[in-house]
Amino acid sequence: MSSDLIERSKKVLTPALVFHTDIVAKRAEGVYVEGADGKRYMDFSSGLATTSLGHCHPAVVKAIKEQAEKLIHSGCIFHFDTVIDLAEKLAEKTPDTIEKFFFSNSGAEAVEGAIKLARYITGRPGIVAFTGAFHGRTTGALSLTTSAAKYKRGYRPLLPAVLHSPYPHCYRCSVGQEQGNCSTECLDYLELMLRQQITPEEVACVIVEPVLGEGGYAVPPKEFMTRLRELCTTHGILLIADEVQTGIGRTGTWFASEQFGISPDIITIAKGIASGMPLSCVGASREIMDRWLPGAHGTTFGGNPLSCAAACATIDTIEKDNLLDNVKEVSAYALERLRAFKEGISSIGDVRGLGFMIGIEFIKEDGEPAPELVEKIMESCKDAGLVLVECGMDKNVVRLMPPLIATRENMEEALTIFEGAVSSL
Ligand code: PLP
Repeated sequence: MSSDLIERSKKVLTPALVFHTDIVAKRAEGVYVEGADGKRYMDFSSGLATTSLGHCHPAVVKAIKEQAEKLIHSGCIFHFDTVIDLAEKLAEKTPDTIEKFFFSNSGAEAVEGAIKLARYITGRPGIVAFTGAFHGRTTGALSLTTSAAKYKRGYRPLLPAVLHSPYPHCYRCSVGQEQGNCSTECLDYLELMLRQQITPEEVACVIVEPVLGEGGYAVPPKEFMTRLRELCTTHGILLIADEVQTGIGRTGTWFASEQFGISPDIITIAKGIASGMPLSCVGASREIMDRWLPGAHGTTFGGNPLSCAAACATIDTIEKDNLLDNVKEVSAYALERLRAFKEGISSIGDVRGLGFMIGIEFIKEDGEPAPELVEKIMESCKDAGLVLVECGMDKNVVRLMPPLIATRENMEEALTIFEGAVSSL
């Protein structure tokens, strides 16, 4: 049955879209997915960091069903309450600077909205992004994405006036510094860029992932974020925090910006916001949003009532079930256990992460990336019933991104499988 479906899919789905596994999902609940082969898998991919409450959480299912009986689509023709309830909840949870929202459907769409907003408000063309970043694949967002060169291949020319500065990926520092022993020299490069390549007065925004996602699960030093915030303020450049992956509790706080002590001017949110329903948004201060004049941006499907209902249920459940504390406790246990495990395994170069964004980087004897090891480990974990995905430019980082509901017992089970797979290499 599984192989039949995969054969049928090859006839009608584009090969451009790559599936991470050959598992055919029959049904899913919480941390688990049941395959059509009858096998049960622990899903530590969360559908790419999206099913915050796990699969088909009862509160989300109930909210969707109730909303479906009232209103499925508005298309900005009719006003409705769920989207306002959601915006009010988000205004409470996002950093203080964020007060108003524009809802859309995907992460890339939110990024498009954010850079349009920044250009519109400042009247400046320039956009600064960071090396290794992933901001999406639509043309504007793709112009900012540099997590792998192949994403841009065949699509140039992209947006003009986009520049890239080195991200503080401290395990593989691109400006030659030692991890934990630097003065954020990568930001000196950005300052130089603002003297050599574009004047600050031409730059609308700097967009940054508070934790590098697809690019390798790298956590920047706090001073990097503080200095970046100061630099933007000094030059009147809007700071966009792309919290598409880090947002909605994934790092143990509602938004990762909090942990770096920064308040962005604009925020992008997607993935985990509605536990798997398509929804995203751009948020900004009232002062910024009120200058985005009527008709300057728009959408047909954005802020869909079913997705908004799922998002309200997601936020309420995270709060009611203390899931932020759960993420902090379970991730602290996981990082400690993995760091101890690393000591005996020379192919693990680094263990890093924040909350439920945990990366384990695999290397060869000479320190070069070891993607083939990662492939073998993921395959063997899948055989043992654990679904993982990788990240990093060289695809040599295994990432653990379980749903926020994952318990310590779930984590223990997953790590036992993972460690077994690594040890048996
Ligand atoms: N921004 C970040 C930080 C992401 O991690 C992603 C997706 O992985 C995106 C934007 C794009 O989101 P989407 O795939 O929903 O367009």
